[in-house]
Amino acid sequence: PLPTIYAITPTYSRPVQKAELTRLANTFRQVAQLHWILVEDAAARSELVSRFLARAGLPSTHLHVPTPRRYKRPGLPRATEQRNAGLAWLRQRHQHQHQRAQPGVLFFADDDNTYSLELFQEMRTTRKVSVWPVGLVGGRRYERPLVENGKVVGWYTGWRADRPFAIDMAGFAVSLQVILSNPKAVFKRRGSQPGMQESDFLKQITTVEELEPKANNCTKVLVWHTRTEKVNLANEPKYHLDTVKIEV
Ligand code: UDP
Ligand code: MN
Repeated sequence: PLPTIYAITPTYSRPVQKAELTRLANTFRQVAQLHWILVEDAAARSELVSRFLARAGLPSTHLHVPTPRRYKRPGLPRATEQRNAGLAWLRQRHQHQHQRAQPGVLFFADDDNTYSLELFQEMRTTRKVSVWPVGLVGGRRYERPLVENGKVVGWYTGWRADRPFAIDMAGFAVSLQVILSNPKAVFKRRGSQPGMQESDFLKQITTVEELEPKANNCTKVLVWHTRTEKVNLANEPKYHLDTVKIEV
């Protein structure tokens, strides 16, 4: 059977949330055998996201976990708890031997990035951990793993080149087997520096030598680290509200 692609998406309430999720669902709906794990950064599942998912037309799981307030600060990594909740759900679901046999691939799909459909074809064949370029990230047009003779030998990056894995969250996928056979691999808050989340996680489960280059030996950009502009709500009314209540 086609390996299932599990996409873990952390998401949080803000004016653009539903627009971002709509775009993402429109992409995912075109991918065969994809299971969307949507993890809200919230104390409870929201009405907005619940209603949205129910109509999204996708196999999905709706989780939630709030980021402790002390971690909601500029410069600190985002969505650590949400990605870990997704990992925990995956491990829980596949804890029995007969479910372990099911092939699967996990990747971390932030809600604001842009994903080509080709990316999913590439990641689907991940044996352990696969990598590829990411566009519009690290202060450059793209970052990418440098490949020689089919092996990753370094990183083309303009930012913190000392990172063991100089790669964005959108630049790798992990097989379900690797997730299950490394049950303690998680994203860490303690001692984690900005931009080191990916490296801290990947070094728990693989080595640079072991990485599988995708996207034509990492020469094609199939995913973009796009970021949505903050919306201008300066003219929202304080009085004379609209006569109907509309979800946006
Ligand atoms: N996110 C979240 N809680 C937050 C901030 C971000 O769950 O307080 C999610 C967000 O929806 C996205 C991911 O974490 O899916 C990465 O956040 P963002 O896109 O803001 O990070 P950046 O683009 O700066 O890497
Ligand atoms: Mn983002």
